[in-house]
Amino acid sequence: MSDELRPGETPASAPSGIFVHYCEREGSSAWGGWRYSRTKQETRWFCFGHRDHGERLLGR
Ligand SMILES: [Zn+2]
Repeated sequence: MSDELRPGETPASAPSGIFVHYCEREGSSAWGGWRYSRTKQETRWFCFGHRDHGERLLGR
């Protein structure tokens, strides 16, 4: 039994806030485990190595 999603899959109903996203940074194929939301509509994902890009999006 596995509840892991493969890339491109969308769960019909997922546990709150748990999705699999890959890092949005071009050239990065790492798992985007870090979530950054400026608005409820805009959510970006970055991997550990690209967290600073997410931080910048949030104006930090
Ligand atoms: Zn990355």
